[in-house]
Amino acid sequence: MRVAVTGGAGFIGSNFVHYLLQKHSDWQIVVLDALTYAGRKENLQDVWEKIEFVKGSIRKREDVEKVVKGSDWVVHFAAETHVDRSILDSSEFILTNVYGTQQVLEACRKFDCKLLHISTDEVYGHILKGSFKEEDKLNPRNPYAASKAAAELFCRAYHETYGLHVVITRSTNNYGPYQHPEKLIPKTIIYALQGKQIPVYGSGKNVRDWLFVEDNCEAIELVMRKGKAGEIYNIAGKQELQNIEVVKTILRLLGRPESLITFIKDRPGHDLRYSLDISKIEALGWKPRMNFEKGIKLTINWYKANVWWWKPLLKK
Ligand code: NAD
Repeated sequence: MRVAVTGGAGFIGSNFVHYLLQKHSDWQIVVLDALTYAGRKENLQDVWEKIEFVKGSIRKREDVEKVVKGSDWVVHFAAETHVDRSILDSSEFILTNVYGTQQVLEACRKFDCKLLHISTDEVYGHILKGSFKEEDKLNPRNPYAASKAAAELFCRAYHETYGLHVVITRSTNNYGPYQHPEKLIPKTIIYALQGKQIPVYGSGKNVRDWLFVEDNCEAIELVMRKGKAGEIYNIAGKQELQNIEVVKTILRLLGRPESLITFIKDRPGHDLRYSLDISKIEALGWKPRMNFEKGIKLTINWYKANVWWWKPLLKK
């Protein structure tokens, strides 16, 4: 089996590469990554000898074709991923997340390659009570989410129009090793370690469902094996917490005072709560293993042990 992983030098992509190599040591893995501010060779340095790495962009057909040709699967993580950046300017999000995905689809069509497209719970918009099911309507509420929804629609259209084997996963917020410090959990850990003020949007009451990244990797690999073409699978950690609870838990575990919290003006269009029904993927034989208290301890320990990894990112 040869698997092409786009965005494999980013947070979830690099964890997925590690996961696949552990689980299937005989599989060939080729990573395509543009190494934007969010992608780093360091995320793959311990498996560098075991993979093929192509530095290139999903926006360039020739780059995409280099990795899709000869592959059985593309697992497509590459994207612009930070909501705040999309609010400042969504141009890059349209170019990478929508146009780039269309380039990946075209290459898959040309070389008859299966595609697992990585999407997000944000395409549903927020939900105050209950949980979204896969057939619920798309209602993205920020430019990042809109670009991910558009990408998904192209994936589904390619399945219907050309019969391309496409499967989609939509996961909740991931956390774990190798996540860029621009995101809530690594930012909180790193600022707390440094005794810096931690910014929290609004009143901190927004609810996210936290999924340990390794659980997500396990689910994605299962969907490759057992998922049906044309289908969508929700993936969630079933660990719903308000942002403020996440921050306070980290401060408690690090023995730092809550006076480090600074509430700042809320993000425009800030979704209040995400929640997914996961009965469809449970029927395939997956459920999340990690509870938040244990997963966050592992994550904190990783950031404490890998200062070399995050220190250079603070200067940028
Ligand atoms: P990330 O920002 O950490 O990594 C993105 C990777 O894509 C980086 O390595 C970057 O260099 C690469 N990339 C960006 N533009 C590229 C281009 N034009 N060509 C090739 N590579 C490019 O993101 P992440 O958090 O690992 O997210 C991965 C995927 O999972 C994304 O599609 C995201 O929408 C989705 N997702 C993430 C979460 C989460 O909580 N992190 C939740 C649900 C879904």
